[in-house]
Amino acid sequence: MITEKLLTDEENYKKSIAEAAKILNNGGIVAIPTETVYGLAASAYDEKAIKKVFDAKGRPQDNPLIVHISSIDMLNEVACDIPDTALKCARKFWPGPFTMVLHKTGKTAECVSAGLDTVAVRMPGNKIAIDIINESGIPLAAPSANVSGSPSPTVPAHVQADLDGKIDAIVFGGECDIGVESTVVSFCCNPPRLLRPGGITAEQLRETVPELTVDKAVLSEPEKNQRVESPGMKYKHYAPKTDSYLVEGSAEKFAELVNADESCAAICFAEDSEKIHTQKIVYGNCNDEKTLAHAVFSALRRVDSLGCGKAYIHAPSKEGIGLAVYNRLLRACAFKVIKL
Ligand code: AMP
Ligand code: MG
Repeated sequence: MITEKLLTDEENYKKSIAEAAKILNNGGIVAIPTETVYGLAASAYDEKAIKKVFDAKGRPQDNPLIVHISSIDMLNEVACDIPDTALKCARKFWPGPFTMVLHKTGKTAECVSAGLDTVAVRMPGNKIAIDIINESGIPLAAPSANVSGSPSPTVPAHVQADLDGKIDAIVFGGECDIGVESTVVSFCCNPPRLLRPGGITAEQLRETVPELTVDKAVLSEPEKNQRVESPGMKYKHYAPKTDSYLVEGSAEKFAELVNADESCAAICFAEDSEKIHTQKIVYGNCNDEKTLAHAVFSALRRVDSLGCGKAYIHAPSKEGIGLAVYNRLLRACAFKVIKL
C-alpha cells in the first residue's frame, strides 16, 4: 500500500514511485491513479503479469487492455505503421485521456491484445502514472482497477472495495480529475473511427480528424453474435446491482416519474434536486457535463447502499464529454432507456 501521505513528501514520493516500479518490474500488479480512472497496471511485456490482471478483475479474455506509455520512443516499441493523422492527434492530445488503436509490433504480451493484430496505446496526463512508467522503464498495460462489470474506480476506496487482497499494491493518488475513461479511436481503419467516447470529445477530435466516424456500438446495443470493434463495448458494464433505468426528459417530467414511485432512487442533476421527494444522489449540473463525468461512477457505486428496488438516472446531453457519460450510463442500465 502506498498512501497519499507518503506521496506528498518529496523523499517519500521518490521511494513510493520506486517501490511501485519495482513490484511492476518483478511481475506484480499495482493499482495506480490516472487522470481518467484508477488503472490496474502490469508490465505490457510480461504475459504472466497480464494474466494476473485478467484474473484479479475477472475480465473476459477477449477484452484487450490499453498500454500506457510515457514517451514517443515507447510508442514506437509497441506500435508500427502509425499514420500521420494519428501522430498529429498524439501531439495534440497527449499526455491526456486519448487512446489510439494501432498496428502492433508484437513486442507486447499476446494477451494484452486479446488475439487482435492491433494494440491500444495512450500517454496518461497524471504525474504519478508518468513517473511510475518512467521509473519502471516499461510500457504498462492498465485496464480500470475494478472488478469487471462494476463501476470504474475514481478514488482509492473504490479500488480497495473491489480488489483488496487480490493485487500487490495501491498507489493512493486522491480523486481522479476526469472521472470517465479515455476516448478510444481506431486508426487501423479509414476513416479513423471513435470506438469509445471519453475524456477527449468527438468535437475536439474533429478539429484534427474531420473525417472521424463514430462506431454504432457507442450508442446502441450490439446484436447477439455481432462483431464489435472494441470488445469492451459489448459487455453490460459499470452496473450497480439496483435495477437501473436511464431516463431522457425535462426536469419536470423526470420528477413526476420518480415521485410516483416511493420505493425508487433517483440519480439526478443539482437542478432536479428540489423537485424530487424520493431518495436521491446528485451527480452534477445538467449544463456542465464535466461535473457529471467526475461523479458518475461514485454515484453508481453509492446507489446500491440506498437499498431501493429501482433507480432512475436522469440522462445527460450527448454533447462534449456528455457522450461518454451517456455511453457509460446506457451500459450501467443494460440499455434500458425511458424517453418521457
Ligand atoms: P479499460 O481498460 O477497462 O478502460 O477498457 C479498454 C477499452 O479499450 C475496452 O473497451 C477495449 O475493448 C478497448 N481496446 C483495447 N485494446 C483494443 C484494441 N486493440 N482494439 C480495439 N479496442 C481495444
Ligand atoms: Mg474498464
